[in-house]
Amino acid sequence: MHEMSITRSMLEIARREMEVNGIHALRKLKVRIGELTAVEPDTLKFCFDVAIKGTPFQGAVLEIEEVPLGGRCRVCGGEVRITAFDNRCPKCGSTDIERVSGHELDIISMEGD
Ligand SMILES: [Zn+2]
Repeated sequence: MHEMSITRSMLEIARREMEVNGIHALRKLKVRIGELTAVEPDTLKFCFDVAIKGTPFQGAVLEIEEVPLGGRCRVCGGEVRITAFDNRCPKCGSTDIERVSGHELDIISMEGD
């Protein structure tokens, strides 16, 4: 499953960070997920709960921030919300849009003791 391998690599990063910072128990993991990653937040939460069972992460909460697919107009620099149907700059009407967000898959912050 897509989400399970993402969960595993997130936990691997978290584990290394915990080691470096001397954290023994993870309380909260906050991640940012772009629309283009095709990750289902609910599925990711489910995988997270399954993956942390019986590990030092047990009891930790996963917080997900979803990032919509966004773009920037190459003509006027205006911000464009990209949809499947209409990718036109609201300011100048140009269709020359550069994708700037939606690919995110990052750990934003961690809390632990
Ligand atoms: Zn424009």
